Amino acid sequence: MAGEALPPSRLCDHPGCEGGGDFRAPRSRLELDRYYWFCLEHVRAYNLAWNYYAGMNEGEIEAEIRRDTVWQRPTWKLGERHGPGPPIRDHFGFYTGTAQERAGRRGNGQAGGHANGHAKDAAARAASARDQAMAVFDLEPPLTPVRLKARYKTLVKQHHPDAHGGDKAAEEKLKIINQAYATLKASYFN
Ligand SMILES: [Zn+2]
Repeated sequence: MAGEALPPSRLCDHPGCEGGGDFRAPRSRLELDRYYWFCLEHVRAYNLAWNYYAGMNEGEIEAEIRRDTVWQRPTWKLGERHGPGPPIRDHFGFYTGTAQERAGRRGNGQAGGHANGHAKDAAARAASARDQAMAVFDLEPPLTPVRLKARYKTLVKQHHPDAHGGDKAAEEKLKIINQAYATLKASYFN
């Protein structure tokens, strides 16, 4: 007889993925005994991103994972397949009041169809990403392409890992700077 029972079949926790959740990955450094379940492709992506996620709490990590796919799968929630857990900390306003709002708006008991709240969340998220990016760049308005680019060059020079002996923290900081630069360009100059 085979010794171990097969684990219950589950789906990959990556939004929209139809793969099997065969590989587990700890949710955060603080909760190494709580897991996401991913397919091989997505557990690899998650592991690659592990350093990027370092220092974020669970709610922030979930917001990051959701960011790219939230338009395709507005009702998707991490972890809902795995039964009730502690409430998700809601730094980005994704979950605020959604259950009650949905119930109030719909009344037909069907899932889906809360596009209004979703668009509002997305706008708030975009504004907050812009504010954070401005803070990273430590710039006051008015922003011009020339000022933005000059500041970007300065920051890259300051934080380039080569200037810090390949220091990990500098690498992370540079990643944040690059992301903020993309956010600001897209917000103001596209
Ligand atoms: Zn997957």
